[in-house]
Order: sequence, then structure tokens, then C-alpha cells
Amino acid sequence: MHSRKAISLANLPTKIEKLEKLSKELGQEIYIKRDDQTGSEVSGNKIRKLEYAVKEALDKGCDYLITCGGIQSNHARATAAVAAKLGIGAYLVLRGEEENELEGNYFLDKLLGAKIRFVTGEEYSNKRMDIMEEIKANLAKEGHRAYIIPEGASNGIGSLGYCNAMDEILKQEKELGIKFDAIAVAVGSGGTYAGLYYANHVNNNDSVIYGINVCNDADHFKGRVLELLKEISTYTGKEIHVGKKDIDIIDGYVGKGYALSRQEEIDFIQKLARQEGVILDPVYTGKAMYGLVGEIRKGSFNKHKNILFIHTGGIFGWNSFARALIEK
Ligand SMILES: *Cc1c(COP(=O)(O)O)cnc(C)c1O
Repeated sequence: MHSRKAISLANLPTKIEKLEKLSKELGQEIYIKRDDQTGSEVSGNKIRKLEYAVKEALDKGCDYLITCGGIQSNHARATAAVAAKLGIGAYLVLRGEEENELEGNYFLDKLLGAKIRFVTGEEYSNKRMDIMEEIKANLAKEGHRAYIIPEGASNGIGSLGYCNAMDEILKQEKELGIKFDAIAVAVGSGGTYAGLYYANHVNNNDSVIYGINVCNDADHFKGRVLELLKEISTYTGKEIHVGKKDIDIIDGYVGKGYALSRQEEIDFIQKLARQEGVILDPVYTGKAMYGLVGEIRKGSFNKHKNILFIHTGGIFGWNSFARALIEK
């Protein structure tokens, strides 16, 4: 694929490991790709997208990154870390209220020196783009040139990070001598899924890419992924022709809602931590892997031999509500 430009910010390639005990328990071969280990300050999936988005920002001569997310956004934290590293500014529009107790990603945002504006859920849903444009205009008055990164860096350019991750997986398949028949990932804003799907398709690889949505519903994300596939093609020059029926989003694991945990999800995360020494997060990967294992138990994955789950990170998202559900 051509027209790809990125700066190097993540520790790549990330390892692929077999989950031996879980595989034995389920009677299927389960592997995990450690995109939670792309870095420490920048850990998780967003840094792969930022490698492309921030390159574009620097090429345009920008000295500020503006982005948005929930108060515990992994994406906002990774953006704050990248900005500090590059010596440019970060301005975060966060959904929530200034909390007395600094914790998790929000704590790190502060530590990294990001400027923060809090907005209500309603403002976030209806006018976050306007708010970011307003911040950009105000920064311009102070002589800064800002670059706006949308939620989750899930646009065409950000998704290129996961086209690249798919290419990385195909290379690792050769090195490991394993063919992954199914690849599963959490879906929050869709860019990770779209990038994997696009590169899987243009490489004529026959893996099935599964997304497990952690908010909204499958129909919403199928539509969103189709839009993102179009946006990706404006960078690569190659459109792919697929419809909603070709996009495999597994619904039914949102639970209580975005960033809200159920006891059974936390019990699952705790069991896996003790079984494999792998820690998932309560907001994305815990729900997605809980869903994947649930589907495997139901037999939905019987046609697949080797299954790869992408651990997209989120360690700093262990909020106090999720922590309270841990059995001590
Ligand atoms: C953002 C995020 C996801 C979802 O990725 P999208 O590209 O937004 O769908 C999954 N896991 C973690 C830990 C995340 O922070």
C-alpha cells in the first residue's frame, strides 16, 4: 500500500502470545496480540493511530493537538503524552466533571501538562467539534496553529495505524507459522476495526475480523466502519466494495453501558488475570474478551481454529467503580 506516512512513537511490532491455559479450557487455540504494550505513557491502540495523525499535524506546521474523549479517555492521555514528547501543546475536551480526586488517565493528562476543558454529556454529543474549533480559533489568536484529532483518532488517517497493524500480523503469521482464522477486537469508535478490516481485505487475506462493541450497537458501527473504509481509501487510493452484511460486529456485550461494569465482567477479568497473568481493562478489552469467550463457549467460533484477540490496552482505565467489584 502506498501514501503512508507515519512518525515512530510506538514500540512495534507488538508480541503475539498464546494463552495456553485458556486454550486448553476452551478447546480452541487462543492468541493475544499485546498492543497494550505499545509503550507506557502512550500504551494501547491509540498510539498506532497517532503515528499517522500527528505526522500530518507536524507536516502542516501545527504546534498544538486538540482532541476529545471521556474523562478517562485512553486516547486523550496518549495524545497528551505525544504532545509533551514532541514539545507541542495538547488541549483536551473531556466529557465529565472536574473531580476532586485525580486518578487514572485524567491524572496522567494533568501530569503531562495538557490543558483541559470539561463539557457535559450533552455538549459532548452535540457540539464537541464546534467546541474544538472554538479552542482552535482562540489558540490562533495567541499565535498557535492547532490540529484537531477526532474522538479516538477514528478517521481515515488514524485508521491507517491499524492497516499497518494488520500488515504486521500477516508478517508475524509467517514468522510464527500460524494462520489466524479469526481476529477479534473491541470497538469503541471503530477506527481500529476499520483499519484491520481494510488491510485484511486488500491483502486478500481470508481471516474474519470480528468487532465486539462496548457502546452503541452493531448497526451503528457497521455504518460507521463503512464510512471509515471510504475515508481510508482517500489516503491509499484504493476503494473496497463491501456492505453492512460483510462487517462482523458482535453485539450483546455492552452490559450496563459505556464504562459501566457488571460483576460478571470483573469476575472474568480477574479469572483471566490469575489464569494467564494478563490484565484486561474494564471499559474495552474486558468486555470484548468476555464476549469473545462467551461466543466461543456457545460454539459460534467452531469453524475457526486459531483465534487472535488484540489487547488494545486501557490499563489506566481501572476506575474506582470497577475496582470496587474486585474480589479481594
Ligand atoms: C479506544 C479503545 C478501543 C477501541 O478502539 P476504537 O478504534 O475506538 O474502536 C479499544 N480498547 C481500548 C483500550 C481503547 O482505549
